[in-house]
Amino acid sequence: MGYRLTVIPGDGIGREISPLLIDFLEELSDLLGLGLEIEVHHAGDRCLEELGVALPEETVKAVASSDATLKGPVGETAMDVVVRLRQMFDLYANVRPAKSYPGVKCLRDDIDLVIVRENTEGLYKGLEFEGGDCAVGLRVMTKRACERIAEYAFGLAELRKGKVVAVHKANVLRKTCGLFSRVCREVASRHPGVEFGEMYVDAAAMNLIRQPQSFDVLLTTNMFGDILSDEASQLVGGLGMAPSANLGEGRAMFEPVHGSAPDIAGMGIANPFSTVLSAKLMFEWLYERKGDEACRTASELIESSVVDALTEGFKTPDLGGDKKTADVMSYLKDRVRHKV
Ligand code: ATP
Repeated sequence: MGYRLTVIPGDGIGREISPLLIDFLEELSDLLGLGLEIEVHHAGDRCLEELGVALPEETVKAVASSDATLKGPVGETAMDVVVRLRQMFDLYANVRPAKSYPGVKCLRDDIDLVIVRENTEGLYKGLEFEGGDCAVGLRVMTKRACERIAEYAFGLAELRKGKVVAVHKANVLRKTCGLFSRVCREVASRHPGVEFGEMYVDAAAMNLIRQPQSFDVLLTTNMFGDILSDEASQLVGGLGMAPSANLGEGRAMFEPVHGSAPDIAGMGIANPFSTVLSAKLMFEWLYERKGDEACRTASELIESSVVDALTEGFKTPDLGGDKKTADVMSYLKDRVRHKV
C-alpha cells in the first residue's frame, strides 16, 4: 500500500533514539512489504537555536502531507511544538496506555489500562493573562470536545475490557468539570454495553496506586490526563515504558510520554521502548484506518519482540539493566527478522 511517515527526532534522547528507530522501521518495512517512506523533519529547542524557529513551516507541511507522524520529545519548546501541533491538526484524543510487561518491575503484573485525555482544551488552551500581582488562566471546555473524546473512549472500551471511568472534579469545578461529567453520562447512555463510573481526580490518583488492575479506560480532561498518565507510567516501569498517540479525524501523531531527559542525553542509555511502542500504536491506527493486514502484523510483531527483549534482559539502566539504547534496538531488529 505504502505510507509516508514523518519522523521528528526532537531534542535530547530523541536525537539518539530516532536514527535507531528509523533503521528498525526500514527493516520492518522490507520484511513485511509495508512500503514506508520515511522523512525526517525537525522541531524543538535545537531547531529554535539553529533555525530561529521551534516549529518550522516545512515540518508542519510534512506532518500535514504524511500518513502519520512519529515525534520525539522536545525540551523547553514543548508548548510551541507539541501543543501547537495538537491544536493545529485538531488531534483531540491523547491515548496513553499503561501495561505491565514481563521482565519489568511493575507494581502488579496485571495492569492494562489506557488513559484517554482530551487534548485540545481545558487549562492547556494557553489563555493566560497577568497584570500586577495577579495571573489568571482560563479553562475552556466545550460540549463538542467533551462529546467527541467521550465517544472515542467508549469506542475504545468496547474493543477492550468494556469499562470507562470518567475522571474529573465536578464537586469543585462545577461549571467546567460539571459539563464534562454531564456529557460523559449522556455518551454512556448511548453505550449500554460499557460499564460506566465516575471518579474525582484525587481519588483516581489514589486508586491508580491502590488498585490499578481495576481500571480499563480512564476518560479525562487535558491537565488531569497529563498528570495521571505520568503517574500510571510509574506503575509499569517508568516513563521509558510509556507510549502515546495523538489522534484526530484522519490524522495522527505518535510520541513517547517522556521528555528530552537532559540528565541522560548523550550517554546512549535512553530506554527506547516508549518510542518503539508508540510506533506499535501507529501501526494499529494505520490498520484500523486502512485495513492493511501488514500494519496489523507490524504492530503485533513489535509488541511480541519488545516482550522477548524484556524477558531476555535487553534492558536499559532505568529498568535495572545494563544495555545501551543501540543494543536494545539491534536486538529488536534481529528479533523481527527471525520472527517473519
Ligand atoms: P520535560 O520537561 O521535557 O518533560 P523532564 O526532565 O521534566 O523533561 P523527562 O525528560 O521525561 O522529564 O525525564 C524525567 C526523568 O525520567 C529523568 O530522570 C529522565 O532521565 C527519565 N527518563 C525519561 N525518559 C527516559 C527514557 N526513555 N529512558 C530512561 N530514562 C528516562
